[in-house]
Amino acid sequence: MSFSYDDQNIFAKILRGEIPNDTVLETEHTLAFNDIQPQAPVHVLVIPKGPYVCHDHFAAEASEAELVDFMRVTAQVCAMTGVSPGDGNPGYRTISNAGEAGVQEVPHYHLHILGGRGLGRMLA
Ligand code: 5GP
Repeated sequence: MSFSYDDQNIFAKILRGEIPNDTVLETEHTLAFNDIQPQAPVHVLVIPKGPYVCHDHFAAEASEAELVDFMRVTAQVCAMTGVSPGDGNPGYRTISNAGEAGVQEVPHYHLHILGGRGLGRMLA
């Protein structure tokens, strides 16, 4: 697999501090911030700080430290925002759009965390 990363994408600009963001949680390798156009009461985007285009790129090339941190930050954000079912809360959905068919708008890997309302069934 080969991926080409465009460092002019909007999340790269957020990571460089060129565009402000509403940070929920930040660690050495990962940033979580509120989506600018929330589709649910909880709508947080989790992104690695490294230059990865999509899930496949991240999974193939990130270090174990980056991968573990990303997973843990995602869970921490779910706990912090009160959606984690492990805390007796109603739960959430994660989505990662990839490429053209997935209608990925921003070509920097990100996971959407959606919660705070009933989300309905996605897959029949
Ligand atoms: P995608 O379609 O690539 O999976 O989702 C991109 C997401 O990024 C969308 O939900 C969109 O609202 C969000 N987004 C786009 N530009 C910005 C921005 O400048 N700041 C924040 N916080 N979110 C953004």
